[in-house]
Amino acid sequence: MITLRSPREIAHIRQAGLLVWEALQRACRMAVPGAATAELDAAVEAFFAEHGAQPLFKGVPGKVPFPAVCCISVNEEIVHGIPGPRQLREGDIVSIDTGCRLDGWCADAAVTVPVGRVAPDVQRLIDVTRQTLELAIRLMGEKRYWSEVAAEMDAFVRRHGFSTVESFVGHGIGREMHEEPQVPNFVSDSFRRMGDFELVPGLVIAVEPMVNMGTKRVRLLQDHWTQVTQDGKPSAHFEHTIAMTPQGPQPLTVGPHGESW
Ligand code: MG
Repeated sequence: MITLRSPREIAHIRQAGLLVWEALQRACRMAVPGAATAELDAAVEAFFAEHGAQPLFKGVPGKVPFPAVCCISVNEEIVHGIPGPRQLREGDIVSIDTGCRLDGWCADAAVTVPVGRVAPDVQRLIDVTRQTLELAIRLMGEKRYWSEVAAEMDAFVRRHGFSTVESFVGHGIGREMHEEPQVPNFVSDSFRRMGDFELVPGLVIAVEPMVNMGTKRVRLLQDHWTQVTQDGKPSAHFEHTIAMTPQGPQPLTVGPHGESW
């Protein structure tokens, strides 16, 4: 069942979203050659702690509980990368994904940034992924059903010669990080039959396109978390928590003046 949120509840999620925005801004500024991914994670952890926010990712159950506050995924890593001693290098791309709960309400966002100068086709992958999220936000104000948005997201990705990851999807968000509905970035027959939902005021979802330069196929590393592309080509990921309001879609994980990635 999908729970719709009141304007007051959405305002609470926005407060959590502002913290997520600021935390990710700080992490992005640290994504320079020589920085260890664990340093970025530590900065986000300290920021949430300073503001009385509870990190959502640390301890997420799995074969081993997720050990960090951020998922940090470099190059061919798609999502769920574990921060550690790995040092970023010029030409890498790094996806940083985090979420927090503030006063009982959750927000979740992700961004991919280049480390120094990256190859032009890799920069284009980042740009197309960010534009796929921007397209989704715009279309949420124009379409009636999510399937209509998702179909155009996937078509946009394909038009640029890239592929949409189908193994992971966005999600409803509110009291918990992962709530109904599931929010895919593509459309399958079973989704049209059983999973589709209407874009009505009060809906709050995390929309998170994951775009691969090559194959959409994924592989899980032996750390039980990190998902990589099967062909080793790079992958990018952008995410915002977004509320539907009577005035249209409103991203809740943007900056204080509505700044986005
Ligand atoms: Mg998410």
